[in-house]
Amino acid sequence: MCGIIGYVGNRNAAPIIVDSLKKLEYRGYDSAGIATINSGKISIKKDAGYINDIEKNLKLSNLGGNIGIGHTRWATHGAPNMVNAHPHTSCDGKIALIHNGIIENYLELKGDLQKKGHKFASETDTEVFAHLIEENAKSADFEKAFLNALKKVRGSYAFVAINAAEPDKILVARNRAPLIIGLGKGENFVASDIPAFLSETRRAIILDDGEYAVITKDSAVIREARSGKEIRKKTSNIIWGAAAAEKGGYPFFAIKEIKEVPQAVENTLATLPEIAKIANQIKRYKKVIFIAAGTSYHASLIGKYLLENLCKIPCEAVLASEFSWSLKNIVDKKTLVIAVTQSGETADTLLAIKDAKSRGAKVLAITNVVGSSITREADYNIYTAA
Ligand code: GLU
Repeated sequence: MCGIIGYVGNRNAAPIIVDSLKKLEYRGYDSAGIATINSGKISIKKDAGYINDIEKNLKLSNLGGNIGIGHTRWATHGAPNMVNAHPHTSCDGKIALIHNGIIENYLELKGDLQKKGHKFASETDTEVFAHLIEENAKSADFEKAFLNALKKVRGSYAFVAINAAEPDKILVARNRAPLIIGLGKGENFVASDIPAFLSETRRAIILDDGEYAVITKDSAVIREARSGKEIRKKTSNIIWGAAAAEKGGYPFFAIKEIKEVPQAVENTLATLPEIAKIANQIKRYKKVIFIAAGTSYHASLIGKYLLENLCKIPCEAVLASEFSWSLKNIVDKKTLVIAVTQSGETADTLLAIKDAKSRGAKVLAITNVVGSSITREADYNIYTAA
């Protein structure tokens, strides 16, 4: 998991991007970087470490330009160091790219590209995609080259790319990693999470797997990657507050969460009548299985007792990583699976609910994050963010 932000508009992109990266740091924090297009050229600053330290040392916010992208990394391929930090670029330095996910066939693609003369700077899987766009751009415009490159990639991704040769647009694509477009006035945003741009706009379009978009300051055109067909998507008006997703003045998220326990207990008790109403609807199922990991699993153990008492049907809580080994075999369409996950991105939970759905179960997700991958899979959602 890592954090992604893109901006295109009339304002200086870098300070907006740096501010968003601070809100995305919970998604990854081993390194960070930004790229902007300034006077027809890509400028990049990146390093290993926390965003606040990198900002202090490199002055990321000083990069000029009205279009840019930023990334906080949680490394999967290659050590967390300056060279492997995103953004990554093509050989000619004109294309800059950030990525959340894993390109499964990157070694194969890298080998082919090296044979064609491409030189790689990093050990990441991500860099392959920048060179792949460059290769395709020899005979096509940026959008076509991006799309052709996309067709060759296998794996999970949220890609966000800019090209100095077409400095008015950001290209993005999504498969099994979250990506949300924020619509402003004369400016647009794209991010892996809504709080990244919530202080700037509350209008959001949530991309689904298999979609890509061309974003300029005045438009966001979304298409199906396979057919190229334009898709008209619903714009959501986000009503919850940005503060819920930020550190609220505490130095670490862990401290913030510990300090918030009394308030969280109070809020939870206040929802008991609501829970009783929900329990009433759950009674039509024969059993309930909570699927979760870590702290969410411990919360689910309490949820099990609560619901069993209210619904009088058997409830079980299982670690997401264990679900597919045996419990999946007793799941059917009379089963309700409740997926509990703060981020809505927990990989084990996502896999487990896909398994449960394929056996006919209905899925209710309890999560903080609107538009996260698990909420897209679930049949019903309950959001816990204030
Ligand atoms: N696979 C990419 C890398 O290692 C992205 C990592 C991520 O999504 O956290 O740089």
